[in-house]
Amino acid sequence: MHNFARLRDFLEGFGALLDEAPPEPAIHARGGRLLGELIAVDDWLPAAYAQPDPDRYQQYLLHADSRQRFSLVSFVWGPGQQTPIHDHTVWGLIGVLRGAELSQPYIRDAEGCLHEDGPVHRLEAGTVEAVSPSIGDIHRVRNAFDDQVSISVHLYGANIGGVKRSTYDPDGRPKTFISGYSNDTLPNIWNISRE
Ligand code: FE
Repeated sequence: MHNFARLRDFLEGFGALLDEAPPEPAIHARGGRLLGELIAVDDWLPAAYAQPDPDRYQQYLLHADSRQRFSLVSFVWGPGQQTPIHDHTVWGLIGVLRGAELSQPYIRDAEGCLHEDGPVHRLEAGTVEAVSPSIGDIHRVRNAFDDQVSISVHLYGANIGGVKRSTYDPDGRPKTFISGYSNDTLPNIWNISRE
């Protein structure tokens, strides 16, 4: 039996937090604590939102705020799967529910080239990491395991599946990217980019 009350209470609590219109550092701090509580217990994620795909990592929309103030997505990493280098353009919080993931931050130099910004972060189950244009928004993420699935739960300050953002090649050249979502079992009205 899935403990949907845990997910509902998180969404209600996070919506109430945003109603206060806090500055981004407070969203990261207080929202990060709420997300930490959500991922502390692995009893609520339905199996349909935990399915890996052999070809690529999956991004299942769990909830989109009706005013697109935030969205909650389960990322399901098959063994060894990884993202391209990418940005978000909005604040984000990443909490690992199962397994572990590796995040490599990148920074842009004066010529616009991207460089690795410090070491890879290893995020174990139960930990939360923040991204945003103000604190570092470009990274590459991969499953820390080559022999098991990992799952992380991501919270973003927009309907992330419809946000026009970028992936980057190693030289830092951007390519427009709208991620959409992997859901195929529910009507999904959130795949549309806002012009
Ligand atoms: Fe990311």
